[in-house]
Amino acid sequence: MKKITVQYLPTVRGKYIENADLSALTWFRVGGLADVLFMPADEQDVSHFLKETPEEIPVYVMGVGSNLLVRDGGVRGVVIRFGSPFRQVHVEGMRVTAGAGCIDAQVAKRAAQEGVAGLEFFRGVPGTIGGAIKMNAGAYGGEVKDVLVEAVAYDRKGERRVLSNADLGFSYRHSSAPDDLIFISATFEGTPDEPDAIIARMDKISAEREASQPIRERTGGSTFANPDVEKSGGRKAWQLIDEIGGRGRIVGDAQVSERHCNFMINRGDATAADLEELIESLRKDVLTKTGVELRWEIKRVGEASR
Ligand SMILES: Cc1cc2nc3c(=O)[nH]c(=O)nc-3n(C[C@H](O)[C@H](O)[C@H](O)COP(=O)(O)OP(=O)(O)OC[C@H]3O[C@@H](n4cnc5c(N)ncnc54)[C@H](O)[C@@H]3O)c2cc1C
Repeated sequence: MKKITVQYLPTVRGKYIENADLSALTWFRVGGLADVLFMPADEQDVSHFLKETPEEIPVYVMGVGSNLLVRDGGVRGVVIRFGSPFRQVHVEGMRVTAGAGCIDAQVAKRAAQEGVAGLEFFRGVPGTIGGAIKMNAGAYGGEVKDVLVEAVAYDRKGERRVLSNADLGFSYRHSSAPDDLIFISATFEGTPDEPDAIIARMDKISAEREASQPIRERTGGSTFANPDVEKSGGRKAWQLIDEIGGRGRIVGDAQVSERHCNFMINRGDATAADLEELIESLRKDVLTKTGVELRWEIKRVGEASR
């Protein structure tokens, strides 16, 4: 795939950055350059960009990279990232509408202040609303599927689509919506409760997370989705990794977290290749020793090397 520069792209009101360093935009802090990073000015800008950009140019959308491994060779084409124009939250009755660029915890907080319960789980997910829809993000007994009413998205041709909860085909940490959809906003519905009670539940989630996950490290969140209970005999991904002696395993400067062994850590100088090799080694050993096939929850994008 040839390298894309802005000369191949339509004039937009937002901002283009050529050769953007994606390692600075992901939690793992690894990965190469995007040919072009596009930060749209508003929804119309997204539609115009998609309509006018030749379809052979790949377009990828990222959130804050909290479940994303960008490979060392970077991403050919355009990566879209939503900035402040997509970080608005509106509350009407029990319905909360949030832009795709909103940080999940910000939405949880606003819902709580307005007395809307049910979105507390967002306090435990460090991504954006766009990423949360794509991943059916969830924590502590709640997930997007439980509260989403509808989402607004654009397809690769720039056509606006409004998708219901059923249209998004949610399952555990997954949506079966087409991969070319770029979510712009989502509406969630909660139930009434006292703000103080909701905030207390959010504080509990926050404290539990702090105690159990390496949230201050360069990590990508849960590496593998928990396998089907019947296939794994009820064992979670971290338990299978522990069982095969994977806790603390090292490849290059990548390491399986000692604290939570479904989390991988960049100890400082890891490459995406180190992380991918480490994760694949765990997948292989878990399959060989336990017969359970683990599925990557982390999304991978880009080329191995230039
Ligand atoms: C410390 C830590 C703890 C975590 N704990 C949890 C947890 O408890 N529960 C949980 O569910 N997750 C957890 N995660 C994982 C992660 O936060 C979620 O998957 C989150 O929803 C990803 O959002 P993001 O904005 O970072 O997306 P990214 O990581 O940037 O992208 C993830 C995927 O979403 C797609 N995407 C992003 N934005 C859009 C958009 N606007 N339209 C279409 N597709 C889009 C990307 O293309 C990619 O496929 C954790 C991660 C970390 C680092």
